[in-house]
Amino acid sequence: MTVEVWWAEVGAARDEFLADLDQVELERFAAYKRIVDNRRFLLGVTIVRRVLAARFSLPAASIRLDRTCPECGKPHGKVRADGVELSVTHSGELVGVAFADRPVGLDVEKVDPELDVDAVARVAFAADDVRALSRRTGIDKVRAFTEQWTRMEAALKATGEGLRGVRQRAPDGIQVVQLDVGEDHRAALAVVSAEPPVVHVRDASGLLSSGSDPHP
Ligand SMILES: [Zn+2]
Repeated sequence: MTVEVWWAEVGAARDEFLADLDQVELERFAAYKRIVDNRRFLLGVTIVRRVLAARFSLPAASIRLDRTCPECGKPHGKVRADGVELSVTHSGELVGVAFADRPVGLDVEKVDPELDVDAVARVAFAADDVRALSRRTGIDKVRAFTEQWTRMEAALKATGEGLRGVRQRAPDGIQVVQLDVGEDHRAALAVVSAEPPVVHVRDASGLLSSGSDPHP
């Protein structure tokens, strides 16, 4: 099975992308207090819309996306589309979207040298993983922590359940792979699958620099 993962940098967001957003998306865009948050959101939505537009030969604005929350019915749940499984993530300078034909989770985190990784690890990680982490120091330790964190988050997003108690060792039927996104970030992809996924990593800059309509 294959998973497509698209990456963009926050700086690639442009106001013209707003033209393809639906009412729910425009309201959410306007609600973000920090500009960087609405840029990240806009990029995530635009990648989802443009990749699906190309795939289904439809204008990006006519792709129907559903964000209904399973708990309360309000439109603040994770994004879903008919016929494809999606996962959107953003942190630091990066925005990523994974597309698959089965449940998928993508997580990116900026490596934060200020983070008290020991304190968080003690609460969130299994004893073995806390011990493995304690053998590292400095930025190397922060990177190792962040890598582990992305694995847990990706698995959580793919399954709706945490890896609490299994941590590095994902349960049977869930594949977790690390993706290389450079020094400053860590990223992981999880997919509900018996076999390791073939991951196609794509740079979204071409997708984002063209007009929104794949069939002008
Ligand atoms: Zn809700």
